[in-house]
Amino acid sequence: MPFRIAIIGAGWYGCHIGLALQSLGMDVEIFDKAHRPFHLASGNNQFRLHQGFHYARHHGTRMQSRDGFIRFMERYPTLSADVAENIYAVPNESSLMDFNTYKLIMVSSGLNFVELPPGGDLLTNVEGMVHTHERVILIDRARRYFGERLRNVLRFNTPVEQITEVGSGVLVNGRRYDYAIDATWGHRGGLRIPVIYEPTLLLYYETAERVPAVTLVDGPLCSVYPTEDANIYTLSSVPHTPLGRFDSSAAAVACRDTVTAELVAAKRDAMERQMSVNMPSFRDRFRFMGIQLAIKTKPVGSFDDRSCHVYRDGRTFVVMSGKIDTIFFATERILSMIEAAQSDMPAFEGPGIKQDILAPGAPAAGGIAVEVG
Ligand SMILES: Cc1cc2nc3c(=O)[nH]c(=O)nc-3n(C[C@H](O)[C@H](O)[C@H](O)COP(=O)(O)OP(=O)(O)OC[C@H]3O[C@@H](n4cnc5c(N)ncnc54)[C@H](O)[C@@H]3O)c2cc1C
Repeated sequence: MPFRIAIIGAGWYGCHIGLALQSLGMDVEIFDKAHRPFHLASGNNQFRLHQGFHYARHHGTRMQSRDGFIRFMERYPTLSADVAENIYAVPNESSLMDFNTYKLIMVSSGLNFVELPPGGDLLTNVEGMVHTHERVILIDRARRYFGERLRNVLRFNTPVEQITEVGSGVLVNGRRYDYAIDATWGHRGGLRIPVIYEPTLLLYYETAERVPAVTLVDGPLCSVYPTEDANIYTLSSVPHTPLGRFDSSAAAVACRDTVTAELVAAKRDAMERQMSVNMPSFRDRFRFMGIQLAIKTKPVGSFDDRSCHVYRDGRTFVVMSGKIDTIFFATERILSMIEAAQSDMPAFEGPGIKQDILAPGAPAAGGIAVEVG
């Protein structure tokens, strides 16, 4: 299938999909309006290689993460690292579910963990906790990895606003391709589900000690997680990390770009207070270093759906990513959809609607017999 394919977006999705399609012999070009790969959310997040422990309230997300974790380890063995002590703890008063329910959900999802005595020296007011094998993504290394391998096909400082369908192809910035893939995480619009754009603030901290990763679940809680530098952690909070909720990417960007020192100070105080409720030594152990700003595209809803979807709009495939571990899922969906498009199979088309919506767990349209990426 030697197709010419334009990919818009050089984040985790655009880069992984680009590499996978190239390895199948396709002629790929990747456009990004930024000057380097992973410039937006892909380079600015908590860098957690999820297994599913974060998503007690969404089955599809857990299943995608569990499988994506294994595939990430196989495909990119050098791009993540072990987190020696990686604790998920269920606090007594603030969790939306009790510890036994949490454990049952994880066990029934096929996730392995080791139960720990609640609290230990580090945490207080915790009903129960588990040690997991989730890892940390090595983001600088990943940026170099994709930058080097894709250097001949990456086109930086090149925004793409219009994708025009022409006969059996598409025009992207005046050039013809067989297909286009929108991997902008909804920043060009055109997603088929209601989403909100959420500017986010994470805080960076330094510590001289080896502190476990601690994620408090489930609900409006917080977490402290190591980065690729073992002494630097991010602090994130479900209620305090978001800076707003917007209907458009442009409005979210405007909010992100006007963050003041006063706002950071207030957020920092709120997030440190929240973490200190269950980790009273937080302020003694960690020294504030700085901030990380990003934008998260989220489906509307309260049960934390972070699963990946791919939509087809004519000869354009639109990726709605949730987390990094679903890059493989997205690639397979795109390959299935290309095959369906080639054989003119109108997979999942309703009357008058020219689109495919393949939800997690839905069967691939046409079983393509290739191992991807
Ligand atoms: C605060 C936060 C914490 C997170 N924590 C985790 C975590 O711990 N683990 C995890 O797995 N996931 C996490 N995520 C989610 C993860 O970051 C995303 O799933 C992932 O980065 C999305 O990758 P992407 O390639 O789809 O989008 P992006 O990384 O946003 O890339 C989109 C690219 O498209 C480009 N672009 C946009 N519009 C245009 C245009 N018109 N023309 C050309 N280029 C354009 C942008 O410049 C950008 O480079 C987190 C996200 C946030 C915000």
